[in-house]
Amino acid sequence: MGVQLVDVSKSFKGSHHKDFLAVEQINLEISGGEFFSLLGPSGCGKTTTLRMIAGFELPTKGEIYIEGQPMGKRPPFHRPVNTVFQNYALFPHLTVAENIAFGLEMDKLPRTQIRTLITEVLEMVKLAGYEKRYPRQLSGGQQQRVALARSLVKKPKVLLLDEPLGALDLKLRKQMQLELKYMQQQVGITFIYVTHDQEEALTMSDRIGVMNKGKILQVGTPVEIYEEPSSHFVADFIGETNILTGQVVKQLEEELIVLVDNQLLVTVPYDQKLSINQQVNLIIRPEKATLYPASYDDPSSWLGTVEEVVYIGTDTRYLVRLTEQNVITIRQQNIHRSSLEHYQTGEQVKVKVSADSIRLLLD
Ligand code: ATP
Repeated sequence: MGVQLVDVSKSFKGSHHKDFLAVEQINLEISGGEFFSLLGPSGCGKTTTLRMIAGFELPTKGEIYIEGQPMGKRPPFHRPVNTVFQNYALFPHLTVAENIAFGLEMDKLPRTQIRTLITEVLEMVKLAGYEKRYPRQLSGGQQQRVALARSLVKKPKVLLLDEPLGALDLKLRKQMQLELKYMQQQVGITFIYVTHDQEEALTMSDRIGVMNKGKILQVGTPVEIYEEPSSHFVADFIGETNILTGQVVKQLEEELIVLVDNQLLVTVPYDQKLSINQQVNLIIRPEKATLYPASYDDPSSWLGTVEEVVYIGTDTRYLVRLTEQNVITIRQQNIHRSSLEHYQTGEQVKVKVSADSIRLLLD
């Protein structure tokens, strides 16, 4: 059943009585059991969207459905959802067990059942035996697990998570990402996860909704969002990307020929009608380009000059100038020791990108 947002907008009263539109006409269908992330830069309206689903804010327009039911003006505690915040919000004077028990006692569950539930959920979050500790005696990652346990134990249909790993260091965050994803699959609860970290969203989500300036720009699986961004903004926000701007010079049946900087001819698969001289953007991911020696004889490869070489362990990052105005970033995996330091600054090289790895965008 999941969660549906239908034409949801939210405006806040701003200064000089001008309304500020924080969320604009969002439409979303999140399926039951799905791990769905809202991804976007700071201030794009992710948290506001989540808070409306939770019931902490009411939409100015539109309706939110959870498990098929319109939420209207229902307060948070009458919605089948639970929220995990970034700052954990654990009670410092209560033990781990008491923190988790709190909501269950409010629901007037029998004591023995509460104890069983706590044991179960602590096992799930790998904190068995920590019942009697206080939050201050736990690491950040452990506190985060308690916060999660406290929400999971209530068995909500939907769990809302607002940057829950934001306070953790990188290594722990990566570990928790995988654990959280695994846990979500185990319990089968719908997760709606807010993050501004594109790698986190790609790692964990079944689907991602990319937001900017109060709007959802694209919804898709991690592969779709990364490989087939529908706009300049999404291409740029998700991962590293090269954007070459050019003009259409020729249209064939299933291909376009684009001229970049009056110098570089690029062939891309494209089957819709465009006009000659129309401006287009070509999106090329750094790992999709391959470098060859200047002598490499392939008419579809491009001649360039290496401007910078940066060794980053797993791969080497090359900046290659293709035209007066265009430099392209290329990542080459360092699989063989012998391939390291292959190309040097100032050296001429050929750059090859297979046509189906180039994505054409009109915006
Ligand atoms: P972040 O990642 O920084 O938390 P976000 O994408 O979650 O950003 P929101 O917190 O949803 O963004 O905020 C969206 C916009 O709405 C921001 O410009 C913010 O200043 C504004 N805003 C949020 N809450 C209120 C409020 N209660 N009153 C007025 N403006 C608000």
